[in-house]
Amino acid sequence: MKHVLDPENHDLDKWLSDHGQPAFRGRQIRKWLFEKRARDFHDMTDLPLPLREQLKGDFSIWTTRIADRSQAGDGTEKLLLDFVDGRSVECVLLRDGQRRSICVSTQVGCAMGCDFCASGLGGVERNLTAGEIVEQMLRLQQLLPNDERLSHIVVMGMGEPLANLDAVLPALQDASSKDGLGISVRRITISTVGLPAAIDRLAKRDSRYHLAVSLHAPNDTLRNRLVPINKKTGLTKTLAAADRYFETSGRRLTFEYVLLAGVNDQPEHAHELAALLRGRTALLNVIPYNRVTGLRYQTPTPAAQRRFREILEQAGLAVKIRQRKGDRISAACGQLRRSAHGV
Ligand code: SAH
Repeated sequence: MKHVLDPENHDLDKWLSDHGQPAFRGRQIRKWLFEKRARDFHDMTDLPLPLREQLKGDFSIWTTRIADRSQAGDGTEKLLLDFVDGRSVECVLLRDGQRRSICVSTQVGCAMGCDFCASGLGGVERNLTAGEIVEQMLRLQQLLPNDERLSHIVVMGMGEPLANLDAVLPALQDASSKDGLGISVRRITISTVGLPAAIDRLAKRDSRYHLAVSLHAPNDTLRNRLVPINKKTGLTKTLAAADRYFETSGRRLTFEYVLLAGVNDQPEHAHELAALLRGRTALLNVIPYNRVTGLRYQTPTPAAQRRFREILEQAGLAVKIRQRKGDRISAACGQLRRSAHGV
């Protein structure tokens, strides 16, 4: 059954006009889904009953099943969603003060193969459709009480979003548009492993979103090891593409750096990274490694994290160490799926 909001597979407005419905019905349906959080076509009480039944016959709002739902003490909630084809992805709701951020997946698995990441261990199985990405947003929104709204989206779940732009962009359009979730584009971040050609494509198609580039190493030798795709792309080209995106978008770039004890967290790495990023309007987002069962990496001690941060700050860079959230519910990247499905 097709998702009602899946522009790749069908056009809801065309379906409505084919069924003799006025154009405003599309807006009504979207309002029910995004604003009024309808769970069923039958909830859409201002649509004629026969139309509700036709919609129900042709489409579904939920193409996934919640296979697992877990909540951490800090308010982080994580869903494992199963698709009809038996595959599954994870998505997360994070509560932080007034913020209600969600993290969504874009692929089942991932082809990038980063050495420390759980999502890529089994390779990529398939791209998600736009509807499947939007459905994660709607599912997570359902977890909030009615007087709370989603405020931020990070496209940082499983998968490489720039390898699936044709689904990611329509989904983010739904997230940001007034008749969608209405989340400001300034509060939407796409995180990429840093594919230069795809960054250029994104800049051309839609540069309103915030871009985060996962660096993880200050030189090609180390990056080739941690982020294997770097053997093809290389740091220089990746950074040049990020710079071009910044020129087009005018939005400060974020660079992500997973801190791995004894691997990329030494003072010499911090100095080299500071030199590499000097002169850029950028934020460095340091993510202390989240342990993945079966992988040999370790999380650096708080003292090592502090030392790394101080060197970069002294060099004039803006640094944030991302607070770990939802640790106990394996809220990082592909871990829950692995423990549930053994992949
Ligand atoms: N493919 C995209 C987005 C998904 S991963 C990307 O590479 O950016 C989102 C971020 O989480 C990336 O920076 C990724 O490297 C990081 N990450 C993956 N596994 C991690 C782990 N075990 N601990 C901490 N961060 C991790």
